[in-house]
Amino acid sequence: MDKNKIICDLLNIKNDININKVSMNSKELENGDLFIAIRGGNNFIDEALKQGAYVIYDNKDVNINKENENRVFFVEDSIEFLQKFAKKWRENLNVKIIGITGSNGKTTVKDMIYHILSAKFKGKKTEGNYNNHIGLPFTLMRMEQDDEFMILEMGMSDFGEIDLLGQISEPNIAVITNIGESHLEFLKTKENVFKAKTEILPYVKETVVINGDDFYLKNINENNFENGKELVKVLNLVENEFNANKNFYYGDIKFDENNTNFELKYFGRKCQSIVERNYNTNVLGEHNILNLTLAIAVAKQFGMEDKIICEAIKNIELTDMRFQKIEKDGIIYINDAYNASPMSMQKSIETFSEIYNDKEKIAVLGDMLELGENELQLHEDLAQFIENAKVHRLYLYGPRIKSLYEKMVKKDISKYENLKEIEYFEKKDDIKNKIKRLDSEKVVLIKGSRGMKLEEII
Ligand code: ADP
Repeated sequence: MDKNKIICDLLNIKNDININKVSMNSKELENGDLFIAIRGGNNFIDEALKQGAYVIYDNKDVNINKENENRVFFVEDSIEFLQKFAKKWRENLNVKIIGITGSNGKTTVKDMIYHILSAKFKGKKTEGNYNNHIGLPFTLMRMEQDDEFMILEMGMSDFGEIDLLGQISEPNIAVITNIGESHLEFLKTKENVFKAKTEILPYVKETVVINGDDFYLKNINENNFENGKELVKVLNLVENEFNANKNFYYGDIKFDENNTNFELKYFGRKCQSIVERNYNTNVLGEHNILNLTLAIAVAKQFGMEDKIICEAIKNIELTDMRFQKIEKDGIIYINDAYNASPMSMQKSIETFSEIYNDKEKIAVLGDMLELGENELQLHEDLAQFIENAKVHRLYLYGPRIKSLYEKMVKKDISKYENLKEIEYFEKKDDIKNKIKRLDSEKVVLIKGSRGMKLEEII
């Protein structure tokens, strides 16, 4: 079935239209495209018609010229129309859908899976933040007949949202990265975050891949699944004994500034024997090796050979601001400022602690947002990771992280093993100037929530 037939069925009209791509942005329309006017988009219908587009809209008050009537279709709710359209388009194509949810690492795992699968298959992934009830169906509409995979990032901030994204996309494979403190503002407890993320499970068609060491996720049990659905766990070999089952075990992680070596152990189904392999990759940090193993576990569900995977992971390209190395004016910055939560702060500081030990290490940390009523305590709790880290100067910015500053300066600074300076700043420019003035070979970690825009320091 083509897109035209699906639209005509949904609108209950005669099948005599011929659309090209679907868009919700009137600025990027070309002749024959379908413009779905969502909310304010209803104000751009004239513009869309001038471009020669078909239009779906849901604002009754918009006046439509008689001459354009055959290109314009009114629906009760444009978003609902888009969701139904995307669901039908998905059902109609033979594309394997991979859905990714979890508190931290979704974008990273998405990029990793995309990079590995692209070595053998044709497919697409969610772009930017198109990961909600509007962005996800639009992403599905980008699928073409000859695509073999589509990787969907699934975002949420409350109950019911993942359920809806699951209903629309019915993923063949779902990945759940972890359960952290993000979105506590709405969901209150991590138990609730777990419940909300696992709303995906009933919609998965084939395989669920999870971080099996996560305190909450480890409770997911294959016995709870119906009709032959599989559970694959990614586990750390330090914490788990190897078992010849469906799971993937990673361990023996060694990394420097540019590369990481690690071991992967699993039971190879094709060769019916235990496989133990050493891999090398350009991504850093133990959390990223866990992320990468989740991605490899997905690639294995596609039957990809070890040799191709091994080659592909040497050069993973991650989205900007995910532990991204930037060199500017003789200073090395590690820009991890895309977002921050207690869990990702910990991972970031731990990884930073392990690298560049020949340089002066400065950590610039900003507020973590959306943490709900315990936010100040969660900022103060970061002290335990910083105290043990190999960080020499700690620069803090933001009203919430001030509580961490106040907690840490109470202690005599000589009590810290590596820290020789802790400072709180009111302005980002002051941090920038301070770093420039320091006369040492330095490397600067930058991490905070998106709203803090800490990358402006670079
Ligand atoms: P998301 O898309 O879920 O917001 P990202 O992939 O953009 O996550 O990563 C955001 C930050 O989370 C990264 O910069 C990193 O510091 C941290 N992170 C990534 N993966 C993990 C993980 N598995 N566990 C904890 N923190 C992680």
